[in-house]
Amino acid sequence: MDDDWICGRLGEDEPWVLGAVNPPVFENSVFTFASAEELGEAIRNEDERYVYWRGTNPTVDLAQRKLAALERGERAKCFGSGMGAISATISSLVSAGDHVLVLGAVYGPTTQFLRYLEKFGVTHTHVDDLAGCDSAIRASTRLLYFESPSYMAYRVVDITGVTGWARERGLVTVMDNTWSTPLFQKPLTMGVDLVVHSLSKYIGGHSDLVGGVVIGPARLIRPLALTEYQLYGAAMSPHDAAKVIKGLRTLPVRMLAHQERGLAVAAFLKDHPGVRAVNHPGLPSHPGHTIAARQMSGFSSLFSLELDTDSRQDVSAFLDKLRHFRIGVSWGGFESLVNAPALSTEESVRTTMGIPVGLVRLSVGLEPADTLIKDLGLALEGLSA
Ligand code: PLP
Repeated sequence: MDDDWICGRLGEDEPWVLGAVNPPVFENSVFTFASAEELGEAIRNEDERYVYWRGTNPTVDLAQRKLAALERGERAKCFGSGMGAISATISSLVSAGDHVLVLGAVYGPTTQFLRYLEKFGVTHTHVDDLAGCDSAIRASTRLLYFESPSYMAYRVVDITGVTGWARERGLVTVMDNTWSTPLFQKPLTMGVDLVVHSLSKYIGGHSDLVGGVVIGPARLIRPLALTEYQLYGAAMSPHDAAKVIKGLRTLPVRMLAHQERGLAVAAFLKDHPGVRAVNHPGLPSHPGHTIAARQMSGFSSLFSLELDTDSRQDVSAFLDKLRHFRIGVSWGGFESLVNAPALSTEESVRTTMGIPVGLVRLSVGLEPADTLIKDLGLALEGLSA
């Protein structure tokens, strides 16, 4: 199946759509049944039958079918946020006494959630590479969690190397694939068991949606849909699912534009004397570029640079001088955004992940690259003045 077709048409030629170019949004909280027996049967199979919006909804289902097909997964479950998907997924896989390996830097609240699980007797260890996994693995290790490229530093993980290592040791692997979108990287085809995404970034694309998804085999998604999805209540609304469906229509063209603009901005910064390093896996000079080029078919436009400074004031001043990049925490939208972990991330999380003070994250939007390059050039001049 072709990704463009999945994004634009999959599931939309069915009779219930009535030929509408945008499928109807099912706004009802509840579905009714012809008999009590039918209701009982539906409740027993609530991951597949429509009963109540907190469990299932046809508009959300359509978004799920498209996302599962894009990742080449059997089933998908959409949530009210990326963190909703991540916390439900991890919770569904671990029990008291279990241990989790976290490979490389991951999204800050994911680390915070793993710390939160300590009160239920679930522990975790952060490691940098497979050698670290070898020393940290325990008899109780159940799950290996990672992102590639990694959070803020954008280091590339060799996905098949990691999944091969984990499978030999009987561990389940979960990977956050938000950075690449399913268009540029398909971790399930490289042995990952479950993929999670924040839909609030490129997939939504318009900074008007918060959502998440987990995708993988039915044997792992079904129990999660019947338990954590229902009990935590982080359900996706049909209105947000309609935004996901609309975001997917333009995702292929937006990602090509993000890629081109992001690489142009990264190439400019790489040669600037005020910049110590640029962490963009699409640059041939990036240490993980060869692996990235093998396992990814494109590069998104979120990356970091390290300013030539160790001072928080300099970092603040740099952000304040930017006129076109807006200061904000999210990414993946049409608008260019800038953020600096030294100013916005909990200090213990920043140091655990080894993020330098001078690191600045850029989300390159859909504005012309020249405009963005000019903006950065002027702010960098101000920094060294
Ligand atoms: N994963 C990554 C890599 C993220 O950057 C974020 C949010 O910034 C999330 C997950 C969480 O997504 P949400 O904000 O939709 O809960």
